[in-house]
Amino acid sequence: MIRTENLIKLYNLGGVEVRALDGVSLTVHEGEMIAVTGASGSGKSTLMNILGCLDRPDSGSYWLGDEDVAQLPKKRLAQIRNRRIGFVFQTFNLLPRMTAFENVELPLLYAGNTKQVRDLAMDALRLVGLENRTHHEPNQLSGGQRQRVAIARAIVMNPNIILADEPTGNLDSRTGNEIMELFEELHSQGRTIIIVTHEPAVAQRCGRQVHMVDGQIVDGMLQHV
Ligand code: ADP
Ligand code: MG
Repeated sequence: MIRTENLIKLYNLGGVEVRALDGVSLTVHEGEMIAVTGASGSGKSTLMNILGCLDRPDSGSYWLGDEDVAQLPKKRLAQIRNRRIGFVFQTFNLLPRMTAFENVELPLLYAGNTKQVRDLAMDALRLVGLENRTHHEPNQLSGGQRQRVAIARAIVMNPNIILADEPTGNLDSRTGNEIMELFEELHSQGRTIIIVTHEPAVAQRCGRQVHMVDGQIVDGMLQHV
């Protein structure tokens, strides 16, 4: 379902070349739940942004299903992201002056689905347990509730793939545990889930751990069967 081959991503910082990804080859099968671990700066977010079609590699291949999406135009990548991938961030990335409901309906509006917006957005908010917070704005919600809104937004288009970059990093351990239970529920429904985490307790709840060092995967790139 997800396969990358030799992904390279370079950044230029004041004339110094940084190899954020230095030949990443990774296969993730449909329905897997995997953790990506590694020190700060090892390339985890860079990899997630490419897997999530938020960014493109300088070279290498990325097959999503049977399509190589590595060098598609940004507009096409945005469409693929909208329909196939839900992305959850450490800092939630909700729009501040919009209610929970308005944040969750955005992907539907972007996709041109205006008919079922109300039902689908409400279904997603119900699934994350926020059906009675739909008119709250982010600053009226706790961190855990904000992340639930972000998860509702990520699943409202019913994507097969959910990517989460340190989703529990800004939450206390009890709230983080509740968020992990939500990911486990989404996984049990058959979705493919990739979670970046610093926390061993979070990583151990995933079926496989992929470890990154200096822009490379050093362990876990293939599923052990
Ligand atoms: P992680 O998520 O594992 O902490 P990142 O993927 O964010 O690591 O970063 C990998 C490397 O790429 C780091 O050395 C970081 O400084 C560099 N980097 C990331 N984004 C940029 C950017 N936009 N411009 C320049 N360097 C970047
Ligand atoms: Mg990061």
